Amino acid sequence: MPFFRRALTLIFVVATVSGAGAEDPGDRIRQADLKSDLFTLAGDAMRGREGGTLDEMTASMWIAERARQAGLKPAGDNGTYFQFFPLERYRVSASSVVKLGGRALRMGRDVIPDNTVLADVDAPVVMASATDTLTSVAMTGKALVIRYVPPPAPAPLPGQSNPNQASGLRTWMRGVQRTVAPQNPAAIVAIVPDEFKDQWDRTAYTFPRGTYALDTDGTAEPRVPMRGVPMLYVRESALSGALAADAHLAASIFTDSFQYPSVNIIAIAPGRDPKLKSEYVLYSAHQDHDGVRYPVNGDDIWNGADDNATTAVALLAIGRAVVAAPGKRSSLFIWHGSEERGLMGSRWYVKHPTVPLTSIAAVLNGDMIGRNDPNTAALLGAVGAHRNSPELVDMALAANKAVTKFTIDSSWDDPAHREGWYYRSDHLSYARVGVPAIFFTTLLHPDYHTPNDNPDRIDLAKLTRMTRWMYATGRAVSDAPKKPAVDPNFKLERCRDSTGDYCGK
Ligand SMILES: [Zn+2]
Repeated sequence: MPFFRRALTLIFVVATVSGAGAEDPGDRIRQADLKSDLFTLAGDAMRGREGGTLDEMTASMWIAERARQAGLKPAGDNGTYFQFFPLERYRVSASSVVKLGGRALRMGRDVIPDNTVLADVDAPVVMASATDTLTSVAMTGKALVIRYVPPPAPAPLPGQSNPNQASGLRTWMRGVQRTVAPQNPAAIVAIVPDEFKDQWDRTAYTFPRGTYALDTDGTAEPRVPMRGVPMLYVRESALSGALAADAHLAASIFTDSFQYPSVNIIAIAPGRDPKLKSEYVLYSAHQDHDGVRYPVNGDDIWNGADDNATTAVALLAIGRAVVAAPGKRSSLFIWHGSEERGLMGSRWYVKHPTVPLTSIAAVLNGDMIGRNDPNTAALLGAVGAHRNSPELVDMALAANKAVTKFTIDSSWDDPAHREGWYYRSDHLSYARVGVPAIFFTTLLHPDYHTPNDNPDRIDLAKLTRMTRWMYATGRAVSDAPKKPAVDPNFKLERCRDSTGDYCGK
């Protein structure tokens, strides 16, 4: 009994101390909530949340309902949590006709287009045996046919993109295209030997998806795809042996176009200061991922747990904390749709903002915040060419020092970094229009854009800490006497080398 009594007393004292008005609203960001939201959003039932599909809609409805339960108010169109926008999709039509050496090739099976262009080609074939002789081949008005020989694979850098998922075939094709462009071929045809079946299968799997564009003005006027030089892959075994010297390529390439809805989810927690509440701290994530795709080890659902269910559920947790203890400025939460299609949701939002862009004090965007070394994190837009608001960066660094104490890695902010990471998430759309913007991330890993990006691989403690860092930064912005200033000299240009390619590739 005495022992029990002492224990009771101790518990009482602890409870008194933590209840004595010292509660940090950031403590409402709980690992258990993040975990349960993460496993739902990145679970197989959400089917990878692909932008412009019903799966993205399902996930978006779920997020909106969770935002409502968190106490956030709708701030989308017509009193809803949603801002719908149209995506345009183009692809080479399966009814396109390609004949090589008199042999009709089946679209998608024997021949796969690399680019979405309209084309009518009837041209003699010119063969090239290796890429290093290409500049000496006369090919103006002819169809260049070249057999694919993979270049030696570059050694992957630690922590960078998974070399297995990059398509060496397509990279090689781009190299050929750049080399021969001045020689004006009528078409480029790569013969793909059957030993590269895996590369072939991945490319064939991608073909029906086509390419996506954003109709930013929302006029829904279908644009006509451009005529261009078709680039085609042909399966070697689909040909009956070597091509004759006088072989021709005859190709009529048509395109299909479609329109699909995608959606931003927009919610708000009003600020408590009567004046400052008309300014906003924008917490930003994207809810979409890659959907159901090419299977790896029998798993075809690309769940995108780190990318970007982590930040999507972080915003819900931040929402609960902000609702419990509102800051002076209002907090705006946007889950952007179709980020994986090319930052579509954020590009749409800056053209169709629901609050004046000048009233957004800062954008705190997160993308992939739950992997890699537990004590290291990255803040992009923090140094050099990508930093559009030194004051905002200082607030984020101070919040980290006070609350989360990560070691900050800013090396990926280097404009010559080969991944160009700064250019690959939604803060970019806001930085381009002069809104202070930073990017919280824990960077790449080998499961990036593979079916292995699953919730059980997320470091939940780290996710919780990253969420608290975003929240603490937002809290500082919300309560600051003045909103962070934009660097007037900020100018965003992605570094390109002498060949016009991005630096460091
Ligand atoms: Zn992402």
